[in-house]
Amino acid sequence: MTRDGRFAPSPSGTLHVGNLRTALLAWLFARRAEARFLVRIEDLDPGRSRREHEQRQLADLAAVGLDWDGPIERQSERHELYRAALEQLRAADRVYPCWCTRAEIREAASAAHAPLPEGAYPGTCRELTAAQRAEREASGRTPALRLDAGAERVAFDDRLHGRVEGVVDDFVLWRGDGTPAYNLAVVVDDGDQRIGEVVRGDDLLDSTPRQLLLQRLLGLRAPSYAHVPLVLAPDGRRLAKRHGAVTLEDLHDARGWEPADALGWMAVSLGLAEPGERVTPALLESRFSPRRLPREPATFDAADQRPR
Ligand code: GLU
Repeated sequence: MTRDGRFAPSPSGTLHVGNLRTALLAWLFARRAEARFLVRIEDLDPGRSRREHEQRQLADLAAVGLDWDGPIERQSERHELYRAALEQLRAADRVYPCWCTRAEIREAASAAHAPLPEGAYPGTCRELTAAQRAEREASGRTPALRLDAGAERVAFDDRLHGRVEGVVDDFVLWRGDGTPAYNLAVVVDDGDQRIGEVVRGDDLLDSTPRQLLLQRLLGLRAPSYAHVPLVLAPDGRRLAKRHGAVTLEDLHDARGWEPADALGWMAVSLGLAEPGERVTPALLESRFSPRRLPREPATFDAADQRPR
């Protein structure tokens, strides 16, 4: 297995220092292992993805000194691969159509005998009689396609979280609006691009059992995983645009920061530099050890950052 890594942003907005810190970590893991580092644009959602955001995200990665190998891949240009994977699952009799709305899923989940994890699909459309199915088909609505996951329990060892276990629900493979779903695309791409180590924010930890099951069903090798803590705002919530100057552009305008200052903040937050020290990604790479990574989320207080 390779140790190749990737950063896979969705081009729905500008990266903030929290996103950039995750990118830096993914870069450090890969470069430290002398492996390739790829950037993949996860632009599956046509309503939210913008080419301008993609350009800005790439420019910001480069501005803090990160480089990547090979051409940028865009998920919007890879639908055939996802379609082929879907057909493979269909041939294995693992796919069924689902007409449930969000409200129906919530309702069915709360009426279920055993409590379901939040967002888990209770399996309503898996059990439809022929008559019920015909009725839904007659509605004319295009169904989503779900994986028949068999309520399988999947466990894996995360580099930071240790042993993680989850029961996989019948998650969506293909959305009713005709776009491939996140989990399917990510698994196909990580497999196709021979990613050996997935480094990403720990908000995605819960998706990983789903992705591992899909890898197995598609005959793909599982990468290893490191789910890194997200950057929080002082209110304890995940850092976001509403927290003030959090992007390179805003930090420049509001605080006079250069991209190197943002890199410096990231380095300090990772325990890889002293406050005020000038660093480069190459220097950070020489200091980086996955084992000494902080396990606690860092906090970024936009208002508290000194102007440079
Ligand atoms: N595109 C996802 C995001 O921006 C990341 C997916 C991944 O790293 O697996 O949150």
